[in-house]
Amino acid sequence: EVRAAPVDARSDTGRRLFVLTFRDLTEARRMDRMRTDFVANASHELRTPLASLMGFIETMQGPARDDEAARTRFFGIMLEQAQRMARLIDDLLSLSRLEMRAHVAPQGEVELVGAVGHVIDTLRPMANELGVEIALTAPEEPVQVVGDVDELIQVFSNLIENACKYGQTGKRVEISVSGSEPGGAQVSVRDFGPGISKEHVPRLTERFYRVDVETSRAKKGTGLGLAIVKHILTRHRARLMIRSDLGEGSAFIVKFNDEKPGHLSPTPELYQ
Ligand code: ADP
Repeated sequence: EVRAAPVDARSDTGRRLFVLTFRDLTEARRMDRMRTDFVANASHELRTPLASLMGFIETMQGPARDDEAARTRFFGIMLEQAQRMARLIDDLLSLSRLEMRAHVAPQGEVELVGAVGHVIDTLRPMANELGVEIALTAPEEPVQVVGDVDELIQVFSNLIENACKYGQTGKRVEISVSGSEPGGAQVSVRDFGPGISKEHVPRLTERFYRVDVETSRAKKGTGLGLAIVKHILTRHRARLMIRSDLGEGSAFIVKFNDEKPGHLSPTPELYQ
C-alpha cells in the first residue's frame, strides 16, 4: 500500500510536498486473518463441549431428574466434556507461552536418549491399553543438544502419542535416536498405521488442522499438538520432516543442528 499525505510546507519551487509511506499489507492482512481465524476456531472448539455440558445439565434438572441410571451415565459424559475443555485450554496456554518466548533462544543441555526414554516410560501405560508395542533404538553414548528439556519432552511426547493413537492398527511404534547423522542429532518416530495422504502433510502443523476431525476427537485430540511441536522446534532451530505413505504408516523426524553455517533456519519444513 502506498499512501501520500500532504505536508504543511512547500518546496523551494513552490510545489506542494507529500510524505509517501509504503506498507506491505499482504503480510499484515495475512497475519490479521490468521489471528481472527484462530480466535474463531478456538471459540468454536470450546463452545462445542460447553454446549453439550449445558444440554446435560438441563436434562438432569428436567427429564432425567429421577432417573438414577441416566444421571450416572450423564455425569460420565459431562466429565469427559469438561476434560476436553481442560485439554484445549492447556494446549492454548502452552501455545501462548511459546509465542511469548519465541524470540529467546532456549538454553541448557538436553540428553536425547534419556529424554526420549523418559517419554516412552510415561506413555507406556497408554500404549499398552491400545495394544501398541514401542521399540527404541539408541546409541550407547549420550546424544547431547542445546535446548529446553521440558519443551523437547513435550515434542517427543506429542509425536509418540500421535504414533500410538493414529498408528494403532500397525501395533508397533519404532523410535530411534541417533547422534551421528551427517547433519547432526535426530529423533525419528515411526508408526505402521494408515499413513497420511500427501495433500495433508504440509498443513499438519497448522492450529486445529486435522485430517479427520471425528477421529481426532474420538482419540482425545485437540488439533494443537503438532502446532505446539512446530513452535518448539522453530525456537530450537530444529527441523521436522514427515514421510508418509498411505497404508504403510508415517515417520516424523526431528533433526537438530542441521543448519548451514550462518543461515538462520526458517520455520520447520515438512516434506515427504
Ligand atoms: P490431534 O490433537 O488431533 O492429534 P495434532 O496436531 O497432534 O492434533 O495432529 C494433527 C492431525 O494430524 C491429527 O488430527 C491426525 O489427523 C494427523 N496425524 C498426526 N500424527 C499422525 C500419525 N502418526 N498418523 C496419522 N495421522 C496423524
